[in-house]
Amino acid sequence: DNTNKTILVTGCAGFIGSNFVPYFLDKYPNYNLVNLDLLTYAGDLQNLKECENNPRYKFIKGDICNRELVEFIFTEYDIQGVIHFAAESHVDNSIKNPGVFVQTNVTGTFTLVDVAYKHWMEKPFTYKNKYLPTIHNQQSTEASLPRFHHISTDEVYGTLNETDLFTESTPYAPNSPYSASKASSDMIIRAYNETYGLNTVITNCSNNYGPKQHDEKLIPTIIRKALAGENIPIYGDGKNIRDWLYVLDHCKGIDIVYHTGKTGEVYNIGGRNERTNLKIVDKICSILDEVYPVENNYQLSTINHQLKSYKDLITFVEDRAGHDRRYAIDATKLENELGWKADETFDTGIIKTIEWYLNKYKKGYN
Ligand code: NAD
Repeated sequence: DNTNKTILVTGCAGFIGSNFVPYFLDKYPNYNLVNLDLLTYAGDLQNLKECENNPRYKFIKGDICNRELVEFIFTEYDIQGVIHFAAESHVDNSIKNPGVFVQTNVTGTFTLVDVAYKHWMEKPFTYKNKYLPTIHNQQSTEASLPRFHHISTDEVYGTLNETDLFTESTPYAPNSPYSASKASSDMIIRAYNETYGLNTVITNCSNNYGPKQHDEKLIPTIIRKALAGENIPIYGDGKNIRDWLYVLDHCKGIDIVYHTGKTGEVYNIGGRNERTNLKIVDKICSILDEVYPVENNYQLSTINHQLKSYKDLITFVEDRAGHDRRYAIDATKLENELGWKADETFDTGIIKTIEWYLNKYKKGYN
């Protein structure tokens, strides 16, 4: 599809969105992107510095729950697609303060999808003739019609035993306020497709890692604490399993589903990279020991320590409440039907990630 169009992307000052925007702008010279982000503690415009002067990129600071603002954006920019990343995303915060998760993830998603529906399909003005065929056309793809792509997580499926994998038909069983709010938002999107025939797709992805992730998350925490010579906290026995995907592989999956996924469908995205948290911390410390040994670390030289390896800093802390034991994604549908596959293995992706954080934490980022 070579026509010029403007796509609303939400929450792109955060981790995944800020990796997605430069990738997407570069790949599709006919797209303009409007990024609506509230710049909560999790959003940082520094993440999008490389796009600041791009005439096809516009940033708007605001709340996805602000209906008037969302309506204004749709009209003012003639929005013809939405890729919705904005969310409260940290499980620990959702345990302390669930209300804002319901507000942003549920009410915010509802606001966006409802405005999209009214704008594209209901209003009897110029859009109507252009977009009317979307109604109940289950085969239509984004190529010709405005589409709403909702970004979600594998955490909606709950926890797994040792052998199963999450597929698109695994029943929802969210266990944290975070995953419950994401599960709710997925259901709202589903209803707008089933009830109104809105052109929607949902992707449920496993844990991402890579550049620009917020300091609070597991992998940046491990690297940051290690470099500073502080205890590296690991929940419980460290044997919880997550399925890790390099963030750009997630972005490529979103690109493929946005352009070629079937209307109303759900696609799981995951890298077949199951690791216990212990294996993750061990791997990162081994790499740091090699590329930035403790004896060369100037931050450590200022404190009194007897470290031989960053591994000496690993400390077990009380487990997270309701901590899901294992997540693992079966991405067969996306691979077989749409031809996606991850380019990075965990071994290649983690090296890129560590390089990026070494640069950030050594030179100072902000
Ligand atoms: P993030 O926390 O790094 O970024 C979230 C962004 O949303 C921030 O820039 C924040 O300012 C913005 N935001 C928050 N509330 C807002 C509001 N009310 N209005 C407008 N903007 C608001 O999150 P992330 O890790 O980049 O995740 C992006 C999406 O991907 C989320 O929907 C998340 O559920 C999903 N997801 C994340 C992962 C992961 O491993 N990080 C995995 C699967 C799915």
